[in-house]
Amino acid sequence: MVTLKPTNIHNSSLHPSATEISPNQQILPLSVQVDPAGQMKIGGCFAAELVQQYGSPLYIIDELTLRTACQQYHQSFQRFYPGSSQVLYASKAWSCLAVCALVAHEGLGLDVVSGGELYTALQAGVNPQKIYFHGNNKSVAELEMALSCGCAIIADNWLELKQIVGLLPSNEALTVPPRVMLRITPGIECHTHEYIRTGHLDSKFGFDPNQIDQVLSFAQQHPQIAWIGFHAHIGSQIFELQPHADLTSVIVGWLVKANSLGLSMNELNIGGGLGIRYVESDDPPSIAQWSETVCNGIIQACQAAALPLPKLLCEPGRSIIGPACITAYKVGAKKDIPNIRTYLSVDGGMSDNPRPITYQSIYSTAIANRMEAPATEIVTIAGKHCESGDILLKDVALPPSQTGDILVVMGTGAYNYSMASNYNRIPRPAAVLVHDGEANLILKRETNQDLIRQDCLPRHLEPR
Ligand SMILES: *Cc1c(COP(=O)(O)O)cnc(C)c1O
Repeated sequence: MVTLKPTNIHNSSLHPSATEISPNQQILPLSVQVDPAGQMKIGGCFAAELVQQYGSPLYIIDELTLRTACQQYHQSFQRFYPGSSQVLYASKAWSCLAVCALVAHEGLGLDVVSGGELYTALQAGVNPQKIYFHGNNKSVAELEMALSCGCAIIADNWLELKQIVGLLPSNEALTVPPRVMLRITPGIECHTHEYIRTGHLDSKFGFDPNQIDQVLSFAQQHPQIAWIGFHAHIGSQIFELQPHADLTSVIVGWLVKANSLGLSMNELNIGGGLGIRYVESDDPPSIAQWSETVCNGIIQACQAAALPLPKLLCEPGRSIIGPACITAYKVGAKKDIPNIRTYLSVDGGMSDNPRPITYQSIYSTAIANRMEAPATEIVTIAGKHCESGDILLKDVALPPSQTGDILVVMGTGAYNYSMASNYNRIPRPAAVLVHDGEANLILKRETNQDLIRQDCLPRHLEPR
């Protein structure tokens, strides 16, 4: 494990022009700087001062990095795809009002997977025409919510198709046919963690591709629904371009089949999944390279089939929000076990970042108030929860640190806050959005009162 010095990182992956730096290839958010005293600044704010003001742990989102990722996706699709296109942000990676509103301002639509994510998107002012509702087991209440707001529904299974059809007659608010897209399992393998692989045949998501004829025949029998197209997603944190290229011909094949049956579908959603650089040795393709690959794949497959270009959608999550955020912790106790290991404990852990304990994920770290100091210690960063597995980073080289130092973990934007819990009744951290020396609170820190907000005490257990 190498020490993180911002100069190293930017040099090792520097592109010809600053605007071409792909955020998903950077460990540090784009605005990070280090002052002569070795203090880390992000979005023009000192990390240590943010912690002083907002407490720790603290999620710090760099607005520049987040906007740059949105813009690169949007511009790449404009550039590489002559047909119409729409980039959606997979909001499960981080869903809150400010993040939904920001990506929508950048022209992105949203993908949501629950009534709660849909509600958040709508409350943030996202146009329902640009919202796509996923999920392999949507409730009837969720389907009703989708129908009444007019977002597109990505149908995942037979039960759902029947439920949608069943809900139509009672839905008087519906003035136009609901837009429904079909999710099919593409049968594509990719190299990523088993829990985040979704494209192989043995997946809980989507229709079995062997049933596509029956699904399309169902669609033909239900013209009261606007069958808009197909969706497939092969997994997450993927560094190879080939599985995505393979997916394009598979998904265009489905469209050819639908058109031959007289169904006029014209949208293809190729999912998300582009990986990000968590540590130096990670080497993901850039946002532009990924976009070019999928756009070219669709164009070629359509040409070969003499099919007009469909509207092309994609739905990245991690590569949009992941690189934009760092989590700042305060260093607490240190336990030195001679010849074995030194544990450095921080004031958060698996409740604000469950990825290491869930997926054995690795991250990069630095001491934000000692950025220039040589990394002469090998330490293991432990969280504060009652689980031996609550380890954020194993055996990392860091400068000697003291209690009260600010330890930052990079690349925590995706699947950290959104998977955060109150395990051990630890309140969830606050989050700030930083830009140009200004910090805006986007999530308040939970309080102890928040922890018991939903608790009910039966009368006979009330304190006497
Ligand atoms: C999780 C997910 C995404 C986003 O994946 P990332 O790896 O975060 O880009 C997109 N589409 C679907 C259907 C998903 O389940």
